[in-house]
Amino acid sequence: MSMNDLYQNIIMRHFKSPQHYGPVTDEEMRSEVENPTCGDHFRLAIDLDANGAIESVRFDGKGCAISTASCSLMTERVIGMSVGDATNLADSFVRGMKSVEPIDAEEWGDLRALEGVKKFPLRVKCATLCWVALAEALADMSE
Ligand code: ZN
Repeated sequence: MSMNDLYQNIIMRHFKSPQHYGPVTDEEMRSEVENPTCGDHFRLAIDLDANGAIESVRFDGKGCAISTASCSLMTERVIGMSVGDATNLADSFVRGMKSVEPIDAEEWGDLRALEGVKKFPLRVKCATLCWVALAEALADMSE
């Protein structure tokens, strides 16, 4: 199996059964993002534990395979992280997706499955949407 197939499988697996996906009430909602050109729309709920680390993240809404898989991968990745670390990862992911530079393989892990999207500039927003939502929510919560 080629790396491309492997990455394609990761995206399809997260699209078909997204992790930490479930209804977010208005009271729970910490941020909402939309990508009208593709029709992606997601809302995030985040809870911090007593130490200020991310205890849970959940998202609802709908989007294409790339945006949904990216949300799912994001939730798996940031649970347990401090707000600072998660904010840094979100910044680095968004910057990495917008840059022609190869990404840091070690930092990204499974997120590398999304790197192929860089070849399709219009879809980069799909891949970064939930990460922008995460950064916005965390910035609000730490104020
Ligand atoms: Zn999309």
